[in-house]
Amino acid sequence: MSTINIAIDGPAGAGKSTIAKMVSAKLGYIYVDTGALYRTVALYITENNIPDEDIEKSLEKADVSLRFIDGAQRVFLGDRDVSDVIRTPEISMAASRTSAIPAVRAYLFETQQKIARENNIIMDGRDIGTVVLPNADVKIFLTASAEERANRRYKELAEKPDCPPYEDILKDIIQRDYQDMHREIAPLKQAEDAVLVDTTELNLEQSAEAIVKVIRDKTGREA
Ligand code: C5P
Repeated sequence: MSTINIAIDGPAGAGKSTIAKMVSAKLGYIYVDTGALYRTVALYITENNIPDEDIEKSLEKADVSLRFIDGAQRVFLGDRDVSDVIRTPEISMAASRTSAIPAVRAYLFETQQKIARENNIIMDGRDIGTVVLPNADVKIFLTASAEERANRRYKELAEKPDCPPYEDILKDIIQRDYQDMHREIAPLKQAEDAVLVDTTELNLEQSAEAIVKVIRDKTGREA
């Protein structure tokens, strides 16, 4: 029996991971955060000071893998669980830069396809509906205005000691959007057959509900 694959793409900070986690819990699917894979490659390149010309060769030794512990994704570099250390603004920016390198995308392509072949999944990223899973059962393009996305990130970080100013967060989001949408290979864009869900005016519950409705309409599956 073939597996059910749901692709959710969209820009940074649209709420993809939080919403995809809520929806996959409802459906009993595995949630796959592909950004974590790109972040881990960026961490590997940064920690080892690998110059661009050596990246392709060095990836043979990188050993990036996903493991699912109690249904939750953890990402590993060799035997080291790096799921938390990849969540810094520096690694966000480094991931956006290194993800434009064709050898990096090629390296992660098969990892992503294999998980989708073997499991019912909701996979989020930038090119899942366009490149990684062009035959996904459901494709969603999840977005929100840059200002609203910066606002949400600011509220998340406001509790923490080194919270950057709102203007810096907005600037980073706009720069990352630009880099992700304008790279030559697998740029961020809405697949022709994807359903657009704009969460600017929606809270998390309403956003998850909107996505469940799209999945229900497309697959006939109750959630
Ligand atoms: O989703 P997240 O913000 O963690 O992704 C970090 C970066 O990885 C993105 O800015 C993007 O450049 C890259 N990425 C990608 N393709 C994906 C997922 C993430 O290029 N499928």
